[in-house]
Amino acid sequence: IYILGIETSCDETAASIVKNGTEIISNVVASQITSQKRFGGVVPEIASRHHVEQITLVIEEALAIAELEPADLDAVAVTEGPGLVGALLIGVNAAKAFAFANGLPIIGVHHIAGHIYANQLMQPMEFPLLALIVSGGHTELVIMEGHGSFKLVGETRDDAAGEAYDKVARVLGLPYPGGPQIDKLAAESDGQVEFPRAWLEPGSYDFSFSGLKSSVINYKHNLAQRGEAVNPSHVAAGFQASVVEVLTTKALRAAKEFGVKQVIAAGGVAANKGLRSSLEETFKKEEIPFYVPPIILCTDNAAMIAAAGSAMFIDGIRGNLAMNGKPGMSLVSWKQ
Ligand code: ATP
Ligand code: MG
Ligand code: FE
Repeated sequence: IYILGIETSCDETAASIVKNGTEIISNVVASQITSQKRFGGVVPEIASRHHVEQITLVIEEALAIAELEPADLDAVAVTEGPGLVGALLIGVNAAKAFAFANGLPIIGVHHIAGHIYANQLMQPMEFPLLALIVSGGHTELVIMEGHGSFKLVGETRDDAAGEAYDKVARVLGLPYPGGPQIDKLAAESDGQVEFPRAWLEPGSYDFSFSGLKSSVINYKHNLAQRGEAVNPSHVAAGFQASVVEVLTTKALRAAKEFGVKQVIAAGGVAANKGLRSSLEETFKKEEIPFYVPPIILCTDNAAMIAAAGSAMFIDGIRGNLAMNGKPGMSLVSWKQ
């Protein structure tokens, strides 16, 4: 089966064709980073305009690279939510038009289910599975007992991990998106500032990153009052050490408590080198299989949407042309 995936929830316009839910045939991503950089973040109205300009080209390119015609496809899978409403609508409407014109079924995919299913493009999922989702808008620990079954065991109470990266980067005067910049500085740093770890109550699988962000701001402020400047690398390394230690520790505890067969990381922050190596090392020591997709499949893309859409297609899930963008969509199981 061939599924066309479409993703426009934030600032990437993406289309991809995936075969049998596991094999990438084409994966096209048009990023807006260069234009959003000027504003230090994603401006929703600009994101929507970019999507309008790019979406048809990106879909055509995904088909051309795959050397497939619309008639060769089995379904269209599109990010239904969550995300920026104007951005989501461009993808959903393009998917509806494409599906209607070519007589194909349409499937609405949750963006985070997509991030999780990026892993299915690398190796088969084994259940029960623990997914650590770390992205621009989400920080969650999810247990999956099978395909399409999601149980939330912990989530952030304030900022998402990626959001914290981007905000701290802005404090340090680094360009958008801040995650990769901090990652680079941290890797090259020859020292680090000590920042607190937000463990929350004993036993909690929830996260909190806004206190850490405030610590960084206070640290910079205190130095400024003494007429000193911060060493950005030391701050980046200290901030990253706190984030990575908390994420790794809580993921390990959850993996043990729920006795999972596999742990996967997903989302844009899973591209982080420090986090990847900490998780890899920790789970290797514990002999729990751990996987994280290549960086291109961690950040937003449409192959992950096609992969999740394929699993939904196999389970008989179909949407219809009344589909709308759902900016606040929550991750619900499509199968128990
Ligand atoms: P969501 O998936 O929650 O809807 P999103 O789609 O905007 O949010 P992603 O594209 O999955 O988020 O991830 C983007 C985030 O990942 C940004 O916050 C970015 O700074 C962060 N990020 C990307 N690369 C790295 C990295 N190497 N280190 C840390 N953070 C990173
Ligand atoms: Mg993005
Ligand atoms: Fe994302």
